Amino acid sequence: ADHREASLLDGLDPDQRAAADITGGPVLIIAGPGTGKTRTLTHRLAHLVAERGVDPRHCLAITFTRRAAEEMAERLAALVPDHAPGLTIATFHSLGLRILREQHDRAGLGPAFGIADQATRLALATEAAGDEKSGRRLLAERSRRRGSDDGASPDLADAAERYTKALRQRDLVDFDDLITLPVELLEAAPDLAAAYRDRFRWISVDEYQDVDGQQYRLLRLLAPADGHLTAIGDPDQAIYRFRGADVGFFLRFREDFPGARMVRLTRNYRSSAAILTASLQAIAPTTLVPGRELRPMGDHGPARVGVYPAADERAEASFVARTVELLLGGASFHSFDSGRIDSDETHGLGFSDFAVLYRTDRQAEAVMAGLTRAGLPFQKRSHDRLADRPGVRPLLAELAFAPAAGAPASVTERLRWAAEAVIERIPRAERGEAEVDVHTAVDLLRPRAEACGTDLERFRDELALGVEVDTWDPRADRVSLLTLHAAKGLEFPVVFVVGCEDGLLPLRWPGVSPEDTDEEEVREERRLLFVGMTRARRHLFLSHAAERVRQGSARRSAPSPFLADLGADVCERVGAAAARRKPRDTQLRLL
Ligand code: ATP
Ligand code: MG
Repeated sequence: ADHREASLLDGLDPDQRAAADITGGPVLIIAGPGTGKTRTLTHRLAHLVAERGVDPRHCLAITFTRRAAEEMAERLAALVPDHAPGLTIATFHSLGLRILREQHDRAGLGPAFGIADQATRLALATEAAGDEKSGRRLLAERSRRRGSDDGASPDLADAAERYTKALRQRDLVDFDDLITLPVELLEAAPDLAAAYRDRFRWISVDEYQDVDGQQYRLLRLLAPADGHLTAIGDPDQAIYRFRGADVGFFLRFREDFPGARMVRLTRNYRSSAAILTASLQAIAPTTLVPGRELRPMGDHGPARVGVYPAADERAEASFVARTVELLLGGASFHSFDSGRIDSDETHGLGFSDFAVLYRTDRQAEAVMAGLTRAGLPFQKRSHDRLADRPGVRPLLAELAFAPAAGAPASVTERLRWAAEAVIERIPRAERGEAEVDVHTAVDLLRPRAEACGTDLERFRDELALGVEVDTWDPRADRVSLLTLHAAKGLEFPVVFVVGCEDGLLPLRWPGVSPEDTDEEEVREERRLLFVGMTRARRHLFLSHAAERVRQGSARRSAPSPFLADLGADVCERVGAAAARRKPRDTQLRLL
């Protein structure tokens, strides 16, 4: 055992190791980006099950996205292959769904209840509220309340109840119900809550700073005050307040779980010193972690973060495309200051090493146009749920009635057809040329969708739960386009944060003056920039356009006020010439 113990904790630094080695009780790991929080959590789990004799079936790891859950599952499968299959690695939503499936009877649902897609939700909400506009408002409010009928606006309270009733009559739940219903169920049935506490004795939650009220209630039901709960996060990366997340839960962890051990990680293994310093300068004015220490471990990348002032969004996109070409062509950055040319810092880069991050989905259009003009391959992390894609919906409706064992031929046909719709997104090289049968399809989907064989029920849930992450492949040889929100937890050697403009970052409705903007909102926007900047390993470019089309008309805009907090010691304007020069015959200069 000693030999294996050394190998499992060996890849950790002393602080990480200490955190991973805590035997029991509540633990709070608070640390900045790139300090190995997720890695520590993964190794801690591996260590517990393989070396501390903890039964994997007693372990529950909660991640923020399905993609993160898949990655953790993959890593654990590699670290502790014998124990990994027994572990539960879930998002709050998939955990909630699992509880509802297991307890459907007590939750008043049928054995094959379905998850309503957006179109069904809207239709039912419109019917309940009388018109579409009110219907939309009902859904938005309900999401903010996370599915609860309590606290609806007085004029919508009756409609909200009618909507819920209509869902249940059709044996449907919606996305918001996936947390709310299990909470209600466990609160009303202490015996059940106790059974789940007994089952999930070891719980860890990554990105705890973005837990919302309902998720928090679920956690409190599952984890006793002295339980083995490990919470990991960074308050400065709290970016989901608009969706009801509350960083306050993180900040009061030690009141909720008295006696919790607290661990801080201070070494950053991701970013260059310049990127780290610039990021810390960006967050400093409103940091929630004063006095935090964050030391760069790597000595890589140029000495400066590039700032590119573009005339408009088209020029900004051209800059992105040109810089990708330059870096792929082996160009290096030449800093006048240090006179240093890093000859191998661009060595071995491929398209998948580049990410373009933006505040609003609309900005992707201009970037895609620029990459297309340059003939560069890209993939956008899309935000529609798979269940909301055309064609998938009738399939799900049919699957809802399909018996769990052995599907009628027409269902199999439709399953294959839907699987193909998903498979379009899987690179050709990976799937081969053959006509794909349903078993192969499900096999191909498994690493992405966690789909389990031909178990239709599971597969249907996977499709219904399949949020944006399922169609985005971090390994595909393409430039990634993502919103700042979707980039959470990820890292790329080269990162562009485009649209660093006042009104876009921080985001403001055109016509709304900065004075009328909620201060806390602006703080969250700053954290969003911090999240974006800290995704970068070696190269970071921040760009802004002097003019941009918003809401249908061209508008002038000033650089983001956040950029003013970056010192000249770590940032330099990248010359416009860089965007015009041909690759290979020159270097991209930082002026
Ligand atoms: P974020 O706040 O962005 O979620 P994080 O704290 O979860 O970041 P990780 O993603 O776990 O950080 O780790 C960041 C990078 O540093 C990863 O590439 C990881 O493999 C690497 N890393 C972490 N710890 C170590 C270590 N002890 N030795 C070498 N590399 C490490
Ligand atoms: Mg992480």
